[in-house]
Amino acid sequence: MHERSVALAVLRQLDHIRESSGVRRFVRVTLELGELSGVEPSQFVEAFFELGTQEWLSGVELELRQTPLSAKCRSCGSMFPVESYTFLCPLCGSTSDLIDGDKITLVSVEAKVDADQSEDDNAAFLAPLNSR
Ligand SMILES: [Zn+2]
Repeated sequence: MHERSVALAVLRQLDHIRESSGVRRFVRVTLELGELSGVEPSQFVEAFFELGTQEWLSGVELELRQTPLSAKCRSCGSMFPVESYTFLCPLCGSTSDLIDGDKITLVSVEAKVDADQSEDDNAAFLAPLNSR
């Protein structure tokens, strides 16, 4: 199941962030799911919470944003949103390359950090995650 392996990759990434920055507990995790990433959001959420039973994840909020497909023309370089899986450039009719919408990206996390800091201190990190 694709969602399970993606969830595992995300959990590994979070574990790495936790170890390298003294996170005690994650509060909120925001991910972007590309339209073409092949990940079904509800199945991903299910897999994430089934596998993510660690204490540092208890009570975490998972926020998923879906990113639409976009492409860049190979001839004129214009960028455009892909609709109905039509990848031809709307300006010149040439073929294009997909530039967004096929990835899974860890956008940000909010976390409680270790030690003497107050409960309200949040740390935010930006870490790109490409599951492929
Ligand atoms: Zn073009």
